[in-house]
Amino acid sequence: MRTVSEAPVRAAELDRLTAEWQGCQKCALARTRTQVVVGSGHPDADLMFVGEAPGYHEDRQGAPFVGQAGKVLESLLGSIGLARSQVYIANVLKCRPPGNRDPQPDEIAACEGHLFAQVELIRPKVICTLGNFATKLLSGQPHGITRVHGRAQPRRIAGVDLVLYPIFHPAAALYTPAMMDTLGADFARLPELLTGVPVAPPPPPPIPREAPAPVAEPEPEYAQLGLF
Ligand code: URA
Repeated sequence: MRTVSEAPVRAAELDRLTAEWQGCQKCALARTRTQVVVGSGHPDADLMFVGEAPGYHEDRQGAPFVGQAGKVLESLLGSIGLARSQVYIANVLKCRPPGNRDPQPDEIAACEGHLFAQVELIRPKVICTLGNFATKLLSGQPHGITRVHGRAQPRRIAGVDLVLYPIFHPAAALYTPAMMDTLGADFARLPELLTGVPVAPPPPPPIPREAPAPVAEPEPEYAQLGLF
């Protein structure tokens, strides 16, 4: 975190936005949500995580990543010596899609302004995107997480120069326990990225040999969960 804390000002502004957004009616999810889940964590955080959307528990409790996926995220944070109070956690969508279905393009378009406002306010050094939806939105690229996880890329997002770092969604480890190794290895690079050493743009992601054309992303078995 920064030496001269801007946390009180940022916290006050985040509180103001949180109150304002509670009444958001920008998309149809307003009709089915229990509450708007804006985000949680340190308003001065150098490291920000962006997940997909609130699930059942998040919708009830009003905070992101408080269910099983949140436990995985906390364990990964612990592996690099961080607690969730030291980072900021938000989602692409601030309202729960019914039945935890995938976010729809119109919902993402309606909600993205909230996320960009959070980035502009918190000014993180590193944004770690969790899974496909956050990665595609913030990279502006169609590449799926299977291809781009662990590949740090310098970006300007909401006027902030930062490092974008895509990793698999922590929920992937709940379906495929071996995924915890991949997540752990990708997480292990975060401390180095946070030191602020400039990151060179990565070479283009490899194109699978057997793929006939680089346009369509091969989506493995859990594609319906949007995790890979
Ligand atoms: N999954 C997400 O993407 N976000 C949450 O807040 C919880 C689970």
